[in-house]
Formats: sequence, C-alpha cells, structure tokens
Amino acid sequence: MDDLYRELILDHYQHPHNHGELEDADISFEDSNPLCGDKIRFEIKLKDNVVQEVRFNGKGCAISQASASMLSDELIGKSLDEIRKMNKQFILDMLGIPLGPTRIKCALLPLKVVKAAAYGLNASPDEEDEE
Ligand code: ZN
Repeated sequence: MDDLYRELILDHYQHPHNHGELEDADISFEDSNPLCGDKIRFEIKLKDNVVQEVRFNGKGCAISQASASMLSDELIGKSLDEIRKMNKQFILDMLGIPLGPTRIKCALLPLKVVKAAAYGLNASPDEEDEE
C-alpha cells in the first residue's frame, strides 16, 4: 500500500502536473518553508470564483513538490469557498503516507499558499502563521 503511494509521489515530483506560469492569473501567492528550503508559488485563473486554470512552480523536496502537483489537479473546478474549506486532513489523505512533523510542513505548504491566495493576502484565519 505504502509503496504505491510513494511511487505516486515520486511520479508527481518527476512529472509535475500544471507546472509553469499563467500569463493572466487572477490570484497568485507564494510562500516558503525555511526548515526544508521548499518554495511554492501558485497562480490561479478564475471564472465566477471557480478555478479554471492553475499553475504552480517552485523548488524543494519531493513531498512539497508532489503535494503541490496533486493539489493543483484537485483545484480545477473548485470554488474559492471550497478551497478555503480544504484542510490538513485533505492533504494527508491525498498523499496517503504517514508523515513526521517535519515532512507535514512540506506537505502542507502548497495548501497554505493556495488558501492564502483564496483568502487574499492579509487573512488566513485558521493556520498557525500568527503565533
Ligand atoms: Zn520539504
């Protein structure tokens, strides 16, 4: 079971989906995880508050990049409201392997970026940023 997920993560890392940039993105945001050196930027094109197109780019470990790639697939067709409701468990289920505390930060970075983009730059109420 684990091996299957690991292979999936490696595959996304080596062949990321929706990788690149959008010329005319409606929202974009980037953030980094200094503990590991991961950096992720998401650019999103909306129509009536629903995601039409998404691109991400960045660098870092396999977990952060695979998580971004898998998440980018999930975002298409989702509304901003739905994105705001995505949580940690969603990402953990998506990746499907047990992660230690350090790796969880890597796995959650893409979600953090996407939610920050969905909320606008100055409000990210339910994350641990402001501590
Ligand atoms: Zn990482």
